[in-house]
Amino acid sequence: MSKIQMKNPVVEMDGDEMTRVLWQWIKEDLILPFVDLKTEYYDLGLVNRDKTDDQVTVDAANANKKYKVGVKCATITPNAQRVEEYKLKQMWKSPNGTIRRILDGTVFRAPILAKGITPYIPGWKKPIVLARHAYGDVYSGVETQVKQGNKAYLLVEDKDGNIVEKLLVQDFKNSDGIVQSVHNLDRSIQSFARSCFNYALDIKMPLWFATKDTISKKYDHHFKDIFAEIFEKEYKAKFEAAGIEYMYTLIDDAVARVVRSEGGILWACKNYDGDVMSDMVATAYGSLGLMTSVLVSPDGNYEFEAAHGTVTRHYYKHLKGEETSTNSVATIFAWTGALAKRGELDDTPELCAFAKKLERATVETIESGEMTGDLVPLFHAEGVVPKKLDSRAFLKAVAGRMQ
Ligand code: NAP
Ligand code: MG
Repeated sequence: MSKIQMKNPVVEMDGDEMTRVLWQWIKEDLILPFVDLKTEYYDLGLVNRDKTDDQVTVDAANANKKYKVGVKCATITPNAQRVEEYKLKQMWKSPNGTIRRILDGTVFRAPILAKGITPYIPGWKKPIVLARHAYGDVYSGVETQVKQGNKAYLLVEDKDGNIVEKLLVQDFKNSDGIVQSVHNLDRSIQSFARSCFNYALDIKMPLWFATKDTISKKYDHHFKDIFAEIFEKEYKAKFEAAGIEYMYTLIDDAVARVVRSEGGILWACKNYDGDVMSDMVATAYGSLGLMTSVLVSPDGNYEFEAAHGTVTRHYYKHLKGEETSTNSVATIFAWTGALAKRGELDDTPELCAFAKKLERATVETIESGEMTGDLVPLFHAEGVVPKKLDSRAFLKAVAGRMQ
């Protein structure tokens, strides 16, 4: 059988622990037998990040910019315990944070649906894809406690230090209290808006965006205005041609509509809303092992990954020679997402078709009752008794279907 050829490489970012083990097996069992795989390889495992003073992460992100498409394995974000465990030179920053800063992107998270794994909200028949703005608001807020009798103001200075605006936040004459100040940047909101509009066109799903602009008449309203202006000028015609709509509504209305919907929506959220709602949506769909994630930059770079971490507990079992049953589905979908995008950009439909086929084989394996342990308690299908497979056996079962 002749293998599928690739015109350009994808940027391959290897990672840590159990997901690093799965990474190798996924390639061996599911990709290399079918595709003449071209990648530019970067080892983002913690050992190599430390060895290169984290330069490898920066190089990988720049390569992702050059080749447009990357696929990333989960990586350890070091804390004090990891510094000790790996004898690190320093507590390196989160690779995802570094890559996000260099690509200037928005993260979209989407659940993988399989019959038998029923969402906690049974009306959800299609994926809800969540886009979270990853800059500003309360995540870079400034806050303090205020003593009774004091006043808190919001001040704006020009570059010479002259006060151009002074607003009373609160006169704390009757009680101690707290005060908080948050900000955002037009540039960041604009790039978030463009990433969302582009991604909606990419996946052909309607886009919903919501804030609390009735209450926050300057701050949240500004988000609404920026989205509206960019949509009107740059995307309205494209959305009409694609037969999808852009809807703005209030955040509480959006939450109610999402719960009542059947899914099939791209839901754009401000930073805090996205933080909270992405955990709600992921949990309601069933399992972190079935959640994919893609970073999309406004200038059209894509980085695909699983939404979960390196599954440390399973890795230590693996090291002791014990069997593990770690869900590889989200990592498989990171690969298929990257290969399909590569195929689309390079005009190699065989590669896109392969990616679709591998996704189908993966989902059908679960639907037929063969799955990793995390999914067994979630699986309910008439006449199918779920069977728990170990990590490698699940991949072999998918490979069997591919053949
Ligand atoms: P985690 O690796 O996502 O795992 C947390 C728990 O969730 C696991 O112990 C396991 O539960 C379950 N789980 C997650 N993914 C699973 C899968 N594919 N199959 C089966 N079960 C799965 O999160 P963590 O333990 O908080 O973090 C571990 C490391 O990952 C940390 O060093 C962190 O920095 C890193 N991390 C990286 C990324 C990324 O690169 N994108 C994201 C998050 C965390 P049971 O133990 O109950 O089986
Ligand atoms: Mg959260």
